[in-house]
Amino acid sequence: MYKNITCKSALNKLNSNYLPYNWDLNVYRGCSHHCQYCYALYSHNYLNMGDFFGDILIKENIVEALEVQLKKKSWKREVINLGGVTDSYQPIEKKTKLFPEILKLLIKYRTPVSISTKSDLLLRDKELFLDLAEVAGASVGISVTTFDEELRKKIEPGSSPTKNRFEVLRVFKGTRVRTGVLAMPILPYLTDNKENLERIFSSAQEVGASFIITGLLNLRGPTRGHFLNFIRNTFPELYEGYVNYYTGKVDKKAYREKLYGTISQLRKQYPLPPYQYRKIRDPEQLVLF
Ligand code: SF4
Repeated sequence: MYKNITCKSALNKLNSNYLPYNWDLNVYRGCSHHCQYCYALYSHNYLNMGDFFGDILIKENIVEALEVQLKKKSWKREVINLGGVTDSYQPIEKKTKLFPEILKLLIKYRTPVSISTKSDLLLRDKELFLDLAEVAGASVGISVTTFDEELRKKIEPGSSPTKNRFEVLRVFKGTRVRTGVLAMPILPYLTDNKENLERIFSSAQEVGASFIITGLLNLRGPTRGHFLNFIRNTFPELYEGYVNYYTGKVDKKAYREKLYGTISQLRKQYPLPPYQYRKIRDPEQLVLF
């Protein structure tokens, strides 16, 4: 179900000490990508909505609301994270075409962005990201878990194939758009094998990514029950192992040490080129990317 809503403001101020940005912008609420481990399920509970993956809210006035905020003299052109509680490139974005309008505004008001997505729809707006990178700064990340396409269809059925996501980064290779890979969450017993991780690291190097961030699956709030149900129904042979792991019956320290050892070896084997910070054309703007 799609439902149009209106918003009072487009930008949401974050109060976090560990995020590299202070603002986020979510055009949609809910997410059709349907990742079984989705960390954002809590956000629909807060809205009293039923199905996070099926009930998608569209902020139809977001472009106008954004311009009101960006044109204020008090706007300091800080980095905005596109997304936060959803993936910005929802399938419905093909029809609504809200992002091109948003990116045009960000170019007009010289405001840098970071975004991470599991959708190759971002490529539709390639030229706008290139322009934004010239005048303010743009960081594009892809989030990936597995190169096993059959497994990907089970754990992230609404997302783009992993190969297509890497193509998004390849297109920006050698441009001012900073690119990176979020290899997360790593799912114990499913995506934690060396072969899969090595393919992610080698592909990141090949497409010219400048960073790769890894993270192990965390199960909190409504995500915990949802994910464990998914494992019980889809991979019953792994269910007991998951319950043991997430109830502390497994030696997590030993598991993590082995995994992080593999990751650290892969970082050495596939070093990423350090990103060259470049001066951007607007002399008043801080060099952020
Ligand atoms: S893409 Fe992100 S927000 Fe969307 S379902 Fe997956 S984890 Fe949740």
